[in-house]
Amino acid sequence: DLVPIRRALLSVSDKAGLADLGRALAAAGVEMVSTGGTARTLRDAGLDVVEVAEVTGHPEVMDGRVKTLHPKVHGGLLALRDVHAGDMEAHGTPGIDLLVVNLYPFEEALARGAQEAEMVENVDIGGPAMIRAGAKNHGWVAVTTDPAEYEEVIDGLRRESGTRLALRKRLAAEAFARTAAYDAAVSGWMAGAFGVGTPRHRAFAGRLAAPLRYGENPHQSAAFYRAGSGRPGVATARQLQGKALSYNNLNDTDAAIEAVAELGTDRPACVIVKHANPCGAAMGDSATEAYVRAFDCDRTSAFGGIVALNVPLDGPTAKAIAGIFTEVVAAPSANEEARAVFAAKPNLRLLEIGALPDPAAPGLLAKPVAGGLLVQDRDAGRIGAGDLRVVTKRAPSEEEVADLLFAWRVAKHVKSNAIVYARGGRTVGIGAGQMSRLDSSRIAARKAADMADALGLDESPAKGAVVASDAFFPFPDGMLAAAEAGAQAVIQPGGAMRDAEVIAAADEAGLAMVLTGMRHFRH
Ligand code: 5GP
Repeated sequence: DLVPIRRALLSVSDKAGLADLGRALAAAGVEMVSTGGTARTLRDAGLDVVEVAEVTGHPEVMDGRVKTLHPKVHGGLLALRDVHAGDMEAHGTPGIDLLVVNLYPFEEALARGAQEAEMVENVDIGGPAMIRAGAKNHGWVAVTTDPAEYEEVIDGLRRESGTRLALRKRLAAEAFARTAAYDAAVSGWMAGAFGVGTPRHRAFAGRLAAPLRYGENPHQSAAFYRAGSGRPGVATARQLQGKALSYNNLNDTDAAIEAVAELGTDRPACVIVKHANPCGAAMGDSATEAYVRAFDCDRTSAFGGIVALNVPLDGPTAKAIAGIFTEVVAAPSANEEARAVFAAKPNLRLLEIGALPDPAAPGLLAKPVAGGLLVQDRDAGRIGAGDLRVVTKRAPSEEEVADLLFAWRVAKHVKSNAIVYARGGRTVGIGAGQMSRLDSSRIAARKAADMADALGLDESPAKGAVVASDAFFPFPDGMLAAAEAGAQAVIQPGGAMRDAEVIAAADEAGLAMVLTGMRHFRH
């Protein structure tokens, strides 16, 4: 299945990595055929290039609208080298073994709000045609549509002077995903700019950014629509490396970014998410410390987790994260050292978010239900120390207040019923998504006991911890389960019919309790 690379056709708008690729191709004796601007860049790098016009015998015309749309180019991309050898010979069609194309920057033009005429000129015609031709003929042609793919091709070139079928197939699937997303962007822009909602657009006001391999499960098809709300997060993040993000990755990364943003920026913080719930959240004096403390909350669940930081990712933190299998790492930015560490983990997805989302910003959330759509404001509610009402005989200490607020902010991002134990700026037990609050409380206590085992602690870290409940305790039992596990201070909305009973039980157990007057259900 090895196809040697003898001739490459290069036509790229994004010239990143082009010179290096060109040098690698030249060193391997590969003939390079190229369009105007690309040929210039390669020549500037001191490399020999054949212009497409020399191959086709036809100049680039119509201001570049027609450059590669020619039977000699498409014949060379589509020919089956065995079956069509006669045709190639008869018409002097040179076979192309490697196609390197990236498209006119339509999406960038869209993002900067370019005028209609400029948008139209940014619709690439020849590029997608070549990509589709080469990808269809993946039995013979390797197609790259992104500079991030060059390395793998160069690698194959160095090792065995060609490409393997497995790689060509993967590149082909990726190539069609690229042209699909590109055409969806064009179509989405037209629907908006021309005011023509077509049946295919009516279902979604957003723009199809990327078809996903599948949805929550492999038998569900899925796509990622970016709403263009301007909220920084998973939809605007730049992926620096790693496999394509899956539906579940996107969902969990969103949860992780929103949760870590909730913790503010006063101190480095880290949240690790599994199945849309935090399994550990912590602050620390450095990013590394925050990560390790979050990881230590629940080392078992953190395996295959999604890690979000509120500070730039540095080398030592990347090293710590790379210690276990991690699906996604999201941070405002990542320095060279961190990127170098992750380069050894090519599957790990690294996302640069830029700015963190503002947890207090308004916005809408939609959730489809059968035959309709539920829409609500996003939960931008935030509680500060001044909002807390002490209802027990004992008032929480200053340290406890800090932990109570921390636990409360984490609990907001845990599915209801949510119970979160915390101490010293980190969670020590999280109970998520139970139908009974008592069960969530018990699970959180058991998690704390597991943490003690995993870290070899003498006693459960729930001892002396605080506990947050996303909604009121309808009965004292859930709170008493936390007290039994060792919690000494409680934060909860209050407002239950039996508040008086719950408060009396808290006093009896020697707990300090504060009410927030605000609930954070999350379903
Ligand atoms: P260059 O900078 O090399 O002059 O142009 C590279 C760009 O032209 C690439 O983005 C490629 O997709 C695009 N391209 C290649 N052939 C054609 C064509 O025949 N028509 C159009 N409109 N674009 C093309």
